[in-house]
Amino acid sequence: MGHHAETKCLDCGYTFWESYGGGFTFHLLRCDQCGDSKQIAFDELGELHLQYLKGLDGCYCVATLEYDEYVRKHAPVTSITEEEYHRGISDFAGPCECGGRYTVDGLPRCPKCKSTRLEEGMVGPMYD
Ligand SMILES: [Zn+2]
Ligand SMILES: [Zn+2]
Repeated sequence: MGHHAETKCLDCGYTFWESYGGGFTFHLLRCDQCGDSKQIAFDELGELHLQYLKGLDGCYCVATLEYDEYVRKHAPVTSITEEEYHRGISDFAGPCECGGRYTVDGLPRCPKCKSTRLEEGMVGPMYD
């Protein structure tokens, strides 16, 4: 699902490799201030992830279909909305060193000038 891509900053021209998207088993969070990324595995989230699965109408993705189905039917947890889930993930991730907050929909930023005006170029190897 996720991939790496050669990314160019449209403001300062700096080129770097950036990873995009989460995988089947983890979320890719980004700091809303500096754009630093952090991976959080579903396993680490424990009950929070189960609560989210419980609240879903369909399955999260085909790769975990049977597991999701099992959770929905049998896990002794109360369901939460996607919004609550995303907030919970941010809380779990804790604050960034820069004082910012990691969020699931945070934007990647240029490591040099912190611009969010980036251009995705050549795509590298896929991961998970
Ligand atoms: Zn830049
Ligand atoms: Zn930060």
